[in-house]
Amino acid sequence: MNGFGNWLRQLGTKFRVGFARFMAGRYGTDKLNTVILTAGVLVCVVSIFVRSPLVDLALTFVSYGLMFWAMFRTFSRNTYKRYQENRRFLLMMDRLKDREHRYFDCPRCHQPVRVPKGKGKIAITCPKCREKFIKKT
Ligand SMILES: [Zn+2]
Repeated sequence: MNGFGNWLRQLGTKFRVGFARFMAGRYGTDKLNTVILTAGVLVCVVSIFVRSPLVDLALTFVSYGLMFWAMFRTFSRNTYKRYQENRRFLLMMDRLKDREHRYFDCPRCHQPVRVPKGKGKIAITCPKCREKFIKKT
């Protein structure tokens, strides 16, 4: 029994080392992937309760698509691009949660500018290139 336990442990180590080698240089997972996967599972669960076969099929496709997308991102070797995607996603979530400010992109240099909400029409000066533009907040 002890021999078997040892064998199992060695096998476990082998798998871990093999997996670590496989994942070397690959992106792995992040917040965006968690959200994509969760959405995929949710759509899959919803499709169980859908009676229409056509809608069910469409939802199944969407669900698989989302899960494949998350898998693609996890095993991707283009870590910089994946990291940027996640960063943009987190930034977008921050903006959605922020109810006290509005966000505009500077028309000249596309620098995001944050301004307080509910001030009516105001003149905004871009902090980066000093471009002035007028927006309703
Ligand atoms: Zn600017």
